[in-house]
Amino acid sequence: MILDKRKFAEKEIEHTSSMIGVGWANAGGESYGTSLENCLFVDGIQNVIGVLEEIELGKLDNIDFFEGLACVGGCVGGPLTVANNFVARNRIMKLKEKLNKDVAVKKYITVDFNEFMLNVKLKKSDVLNLDEDIDKAIDMMKSIDEIYKSLPGLDCGSCGSPGCRALAEDIVKGFASEYDCIFKLKDRIKILAEEINKLSIKIPPVIGSDKEVKP
Ligand code: SF4
Repeated sequence: MILDKRKFAEKEIEHTSSMIGVGWANAGGESYGTSLENCLFVDGIQNVIGVLEEIELGKLDNIDFFEGLACVGGCVGGPLTVANNFVARNRIMKLKEKLNKDVAVKKYITVDFNEFMLNVKLKKSDVLNLDEDIDKAIDMMKSIDEIYKSLPGLDCGSCGSPGCRALAEDIVKGFASEYDCIFKLKDRIKILAEEINKLSIKIPPVIGSDKEVKP
């Protein structure tokens, strides 16, 4: 979505933010803003689901306010954010601390809204389009299924892909290798080590001997 500056120009824009407002983007920011005593904030969709289930079961009846954030870290970890989640979180914490210290002198900071405007057109990316040629795309899909079946299915993310299916797609697209999966790599190294061991037995005695070979 591209924000239209003209629409903002027509209205009076709020240019200031309090310490509470600054912290809002981090997980726990809303809870802090309520000033309620029994707040619970949880980030990450799976964690949120787990806690909501506990609330439904009546295990957490003493909570006054529940802040459930699908994105890890809160809004700073959301899609289309322009900064690294952890860097942004750190910056917000530092800004909050500064505002906390300056609170007697200056309660608000001025925000330049131009920093939040997106001035470039977003291009669509056909990430799910395997190939323009439908036959080739179907073949690639079959290969993805086959590779996916051969992967451990743990979805641990150690390969750098979010899950095994994503790695299978990357392999077929030529962006990754099956040995990016640490489990596949471990198995391969084991096989190679066994082969080297077998070959080492077959080395002719003359190789590796300290004795000089006479012609
Ligand atoms: S490292 Fe292996 S098991 Fe883990 S997500 Fe990647 S492919 Fe799946």
